[in-house]
Amino acid sequence: MRPAGDLSRRTFLTGSSLALFGLAVQGNAGTPAQAAEPIIDIHQHLNYSGRADQALLAHQRVMGATTTILLPAGRPVGTASTHQGVANGLQAEALGNERCHRFAAAHPAEYRHAANEVPDAPAAAREIERYLKLGALLIAELKFGVDCDSREMQTIYQIAAAHRVPVLMHWQFKMYNYGFERFHRMLEKYPTVSFLGHAQTWWANLDRNYRDDAAQLYPKGPVTPGGLTDRYLADYPNMYADLSAGSGLNALTRDEDFTRDFLARHQDKLVFGSDCSDPDGTGPKCQGAQTIATIRRLAENRTIERKLLHENARKLFRL
Ligand SMILES: [Zn+2]
Ligand SMILES: [Zn+2]
Repeated sequence: MRPAGDLSRRTFLTGSSLALFGLAVQGNAGTPAQAAEPIIDIHQHLNYSGRADQALLAHQRVMGATTTILLPAGRPVGTASTHQGVANGLQAEALGNERCHRFAAAHPAEYRHAANEVPDAPAAAREIERYLKLGALLIAELKFGVDCDSREMQTIYQIAAAHRVPVLMHWQFKMYNYGFERFHRMLEKYPTVSFLGHAQTWWANLDRNYRDDAAQLYPKGPVTPGGLTDRYLADYPNMYADLSAGSGLNALTRDEDFTRDFLARHQDKLVFGSDCSDPDGTGPKCQGAQTIATIRRLAENRTIERKLLHENARKLFRL
């Protein structure tokens, strides 16, 4: 016969591990069914605003990301293309190719990486190709003060075509990737390259009435349909959108009726990314967790939700 003390201890342990399990599931995504679903986060950084590696690992698990793609910075240089160094570390202390490659190699079940370089740095093409050969899934994050149709950027598009990988660009008026209104020429010239749009100028131009303004990068309120971003997505099969960052979340939440329709219309073109630097992975400070919740709330059905959180990225990055 089992001593009573042992029995009650066993009961207690079972009860407490169930309680812990319940907490972990809640912290993750709300319900056990959702917690088990794969989520690909296509936009994270190493050492983001100084965040430690262990905090990134915990953040991604709590947020519910099952696969994370790390986007490296280019090398630190003091050129016009980095605004004399302002853009070094992607203006966020993000680490470069080698560190991202090593981190992904150390966590192969959960992490992958991109390749990057300052487009006009010496031997930029060779550096990017080196990391594509080492398994980089895309070229990103291109966040530099250059024309989107410059010779250097076109070399990058040609590399992307040769290696059959997407290119992700941070669009920010008068700061990163100049010439958004001309970008359709690149979409036409490089039809086999998949381009992902990201950041303030990309999302602000959802609205037809928006006029580019470096001081008004997060417009609020109802969206007037027919903006350039929406037209790029509708008219070019090779144009995709990265839903990450405060700009992506602002675009999703500013006009929810517009967003429901937008998510349905472009359900094969939108991919989830977090791009947040908090250590939490949940709650009000975690913009990635809020973006996931917003997608779940505003996607018309489960098929669209799964495309945005997983399926589209799986196809685009051949995961
Ligand atoms: Zn960015
Ligand atoms: Zn977060």
